[in-house]
Amino acid sequence: MRKLERREMEFAELREAIEKMELVDGHAHNIVSLDSSFPFINSFSEATGDALSFTPHSLSFKRNLREISELYGTESSLDAVEEYRRLSGLQAISWKCFKAAGISAVLIDDGLKLDKMHDIEWHRSLVPFAGRILRIERLAEQILDGEPDGSTWTLNKFTETFVKMADGIVGLKSIAAYRSGLEINPNVTKEDAEEGLSEVLRAGKPVCITNKSFIDYIFIRSLEVAICYDLPLQIHTGFGDKDLDLRLSNPLNLRTLLEDKKFSGCRIVLLHASYPFSKEASYLASVYSQVYLDFGLAVPKLSVHGMISSVKELLELAPINKVMFSTDGYAVPETYYLGAKKAREVIFSVLCDACIDGDLSVAEAMEAAKGIFAQNAIEFYKIKAGLKSADLKASSTPCFDVENAVDIGASFVRIIWVDASGQHRCRVVTAKRFNNVVKKNGVGLTFACMAMSSLVDGPADETNLTGTGEIRLMPDLSTRWNVPWYHFSCKR
Ligand SMILES: [Zn+2]
Repeated sequence: MRKLERREMEFAELREAIEKMELVDGHAHNIVSLDSSFPFINSFSEATGDALSFTPHSLSFKRNLREISELYGTESSLDAVEEYRRLSGLQAISWKCFKAAGISAVLIDDGLKLDKMHDIEWHRSLVPFAGRILRIERLAEQILDGEPDGSTWTLNKFTETFVKMADGIVGLKSIAAYRSGLEINPNVTKEDAEEGLSEVLRAGKPVCITNKSFIDYIFIRSLEVAICYDLPLQIHTGFGDKDLDLRLSNPLNLRTLLEDKKFSGCRIVLLHASYPFSKEASYLASVYSQVYLDFGLAVPKLSVHGMISSVKELLELAPINKVMFSTDGYAVPETYYLGAKKAREVIFSVLCDACIDGDLSVAEAMEAAKGIFAQNAIEFYKIKAGLKSADLKASSTPCFDVENAVDIGASFVRIIWVDASGQHRCRVVTAKRFNNVVKKNGVGLTFACMAMSSLVDGPADETNLTGTGEIRLMPDLSTRWNVPWYHFSCKR
């Protein structure tokens, strides 16, 4: 009996379970109308321009085209498939692709600009749950493009508009890798960011933010919002189209950020298996609790060997419950179909080998598959499976009040007052406590605290102020200010 057949028999139960699983697609983009200017061939590759003419000669193109032809019952050629698409219409092919894909929830990053793209609501006719992922650089550009006179922007005004973004979303997404790279400086100063903003504005509209200080600033502010609202942040890592300098998209560049204690409580997911840096991504997920992994795009855009080896590399060190499936579907529904179909095959193959190698028992492989295809994402993105999109409250208890929040990046707030004897006194609270409690309810002081003399560490005689009873001291938010050495301490 051939090795492959023996494997099929041995793991038939695992195969069947994987085939039947309802998938949670953690990262995808909008589908476009059939009359969009988006060329169908672009859905097979990240190549553009002259490089696109070589796309049909790649292993993944040949395989993926054959898969689509089999689904549609057409001859295996681009012309035949495109003819079928035109005759059937978008709704029909979308239904066919999504039904075959078996996707029960999808998270859509709608910041990828595509001609004639459908909004997220449209996708809800195809899949029971569709949530929104907000692309932060796109949001920043929309904000800056929106003002009739761009010169009126200041960093503070921009930040106030920007951090109001977290409403009704499931997560954030950054494409810093495409702009100035993943070596994010968590201590970027306001001065540098302000200078970066000016440079961006000077370049004119439409705004395209590439200034590193400003990109880092947007990233850090977003991560603070993400922590505050308990939202995850998706990060583009590894390969992409040629706008990307692959050297800057290695996730190892994130080290300074990952080491920064201010952000140790965040949740980030490295997209695209970080290909070809899959081993590096696996390492990061194994040593940083905040790092998770997603293999969309690497599956289905690589050869079979490439897909299997990159997923195997992700699992070399990373905990299985940090690895997630996505299609990275975009523009055409076939990309969703291919992402789901190939992922089922790849994960089956990888888990079978893990069993044969002695890494996993069959029961453990079964658990791993459930996690990778749905459960890990449900927990990571806090998706209530089975609920319609409208039922999702991404942030039911928002705690990030822009107007009154302490300056972003500060860890502590000093509340200073003058007591009855004219002395300055001070209480220190954490920034989190300040935002959540103190700015609304103040801090409690004993009565005696207002009657301390400059001579004795106790209430002055005849004030009748004692250790019994409490004063609520309400902070005057208009006097909120950074300590003068704030930026020096940030630079460290
Ligand atoms: Zn994507």
